[in-house]
Amino acid sequence: MHGKITRRDFLNGTQVAIGASLLTPWTDVFGANAGNFQLGADYYPPAKTGLRGSHDGSWETMHSRVFGATWPKGNPEEEYDLVVVGGGISGLSAAHFFLRENPGARILILDNHDDFGGHAKRNEFQVNGETRIGYGGTESIDTPSGYADASKGLLKDIGIDVERFYDYYDQDLYNSLNLGYAIAYDSDTYGERKLVRGYGSRPWGEFAADTPMSERGKADLVRAFNAEVDYLPGMSREEKVGLLSKISYRTYLRDYVKVDDQVLEMYQRWGMSFWCVGMDEVPAIYILGYGDGGGLPGLEHTVQREGGRGSEPYIFHFPDGNASVARLLVRKLIPDALPGSTMEDSVTARLDYSRLDQEGADLRIRLNSTVVNAEHTADSRAVDVTYVHSGDAHTVRAKRCIMACYNSAIPYLCPELPERQQQGLAYNVKVPLTYTKVMVPHWRWFADLGMSFVYYTNDFFKQVELDYPVSLGNYRFSTSPDEPMVLHMCYVPYFDDIQGPEQWRAGKRRLLETPFSTFEYHVRDQLDQALGGAGFDAERDITGITVNRWPHGYAYSPDLLWEPTYASEEDKPWVQGRKPFGRITIANSDAGASADTNSAIVHAYRAVQEAIG
Ligand SMILES: Cc1cc2nc3c(=O)[nH]c(=O)nc-3n(C[C@H](O)[C@H](O)[C@H](O)COP(=O)(O)OP(=O)(O)OC[C@H]3O[C@@H](n4cnc5c(N)ncnc54)[C@H](O)[C@@H]3O)c2cc1C
Repeated sequence: MHGKITRRDFLNGTQVAIGASLLTPWTDVFGANAGNFQLGADYYPPAKTGLRGSHDGSWETMHSRVFGATWPKGNPEEEYDLVVVGGGISGLSAAHFFLRENPGARILILDNHDDFGGHAKRNEFQVNGETRIGYGGTESIDTPSGYADASKGLLKDIGIDVERFYDYYDQDLYNSLNLGYAIAYDSDTYGERKLVRGYGSRPWGEFAADTPMSERGKADLVRAFNAEVDYLPGMSREEKVGLLSKISYRTYLRDYVKVDDQVLEMYQRWGMSFWCVGMDEVPAIYILGYGDGGGLPGLEHTVQREGGRGSEPYIFHFPDGNASVARLLVRKLIPDALPGSTMEDSVTARLDYSRLDQEGADLRIRLNSTVVNAEHTADSRAVDVTYVHSGDAHTVRAKRCIMACYNSAIPYLCPELPERQQQGLAYNVKVPLTYTKVMVPHWRWFADLGMSFVYYTNDFFKQVELDYPVSLGNYRFSTSPDEPMVLHMCYVPYFDDIQGPEQWRAGKRRLLETPFSTFEYHVRDQLDQALGGAGFDAERDITGITVNRWPHGYAYSPDLLWEPTYASEEDKPWVQGRKPFGRITIANSDAGASADTNSAIVHAYRAVQEAIG
């Protein structure tokens, strides 16, 4: 059993600070197979706990490239029709689309992590001889009806039928147990650390009375929800939408609903896991489409909701999230790597990593390989791609190269790109966040307290929630509160003195500097706070923690208040950035400035069309 947090996890979490060391623990990464591209039969990263996501060993080479290190281009050791940089959903999709057009093509996919999938990562825990599965990043196929045809087609090609989730996902489980939302108030703002249950399900007066808010705060919270007031009287819907697009939700609550600071503070971090900024940077209009966590006050009688994220249920979820999309893509590309033939049987099938990079195979996925340069040959008939693996630089030659990695990294890898394009690519500041999975032997505490989700007003983790109840194939969700549960906790660095993309740069640095012990401390402290009343004891009850750390997380979000208006589509930096350049084309969800799987697939499709066009 992966069980208790081990000393080794602790060390893994603390040993490398940003820029501190280039001495990657290679023996840890490769085991007995150091120096050989084929991975061993016992190589199985999903089972690792501790600090995962952008794990130590995955980022140091690229960071030293950014700080000026270079590696000499060697004589090409291998030749391919296509080299894909980045083995996330976009890179894997690009290989799939390319192969569809060019059956038999030789393709190499390079990724710096010890597992494929990019953000779409699988976490496993062993409990009582059983495997429990969690999602380390990309969690759901969000609103698949809105997917582009290329993306819908790809899901079909790899055997995913989203309609089946209506059977597999138990939409009533938590409601049937009367589990709802709770707020954990912080002592700095409210003078007392207090858990208040029944947010959104009890009458607001009753809920507010239990909070540690001031009398004014309580009264304003109740009024903001209950008063049937149009706070923008005399304006047409269009005018209202125009105004609400230009002011933040915080400004709206403060200046129009006129609530107390304690109410403003209560909601300031509400959207941190989604927009990853405070509510002073989120346009008020977005709140209409964001019902998560029991609802937000003040808009209901001002402007009517039309469509939005809630138009399709949020149920299209595999137990490992969209890691299943990545695994099914790998099955399509290298059939014997993942036994079975259906989306259902893939869930519990063990992936054989030794099949990913086999000598002589046409399709190879090479992990632990950071690309440091990609440039056209002198005659422009090919691209030489140099990467670092096991501390050594290697060069491969490709007729085409698709960059499916973080777009902001591309200027460092392809210095020959035009200046304007480089600026466009560099604009894509990624949004840092972490998904922490906590293995507990049962979830009776949640059931006894009547909650499935806790929002913390101002603490390290913004939330803890029960897992999505989905069962398919041989995998059964723990429908009884007496069965094991993988809890989901989300931490996003928050700065009250920095706004705009700069806060994401600072957040990236903070994430890389935060040791595992800090995550572990807050997991214990915040779960004790939320569940202690039902007998939970972190010391006794936590059997495993995996911190999926994503310093380069969501694609840049151009939807926040500070984004300039562009005269045309062409003027958008990410549109400039994704232009084809000779034999190099550009994929990744970043190319659409949209943190979603549809964007990852759509831009893989476009990059392939440009490559073969
Ligand atoms: C925590 C989290 C939750 C998310 N949840 C959802 C969700 O529920 N639904 C949804 O649709 N989307 C979600 N997303 C957005 C997600 O980013 C996309 O859906 C999709 O997984 C992105 O795929 P990608 O291939 O474009 O990029 P990535 O997944 O980032 O893959 C790019 C790969 O390239 C690698 N790379 C970078 N530089 C180099 C280099 N120099 N050499 C080699 N490899 C390199 C990266 O390390 C990475 O492995 C989430 C993202 C995060 C971080």
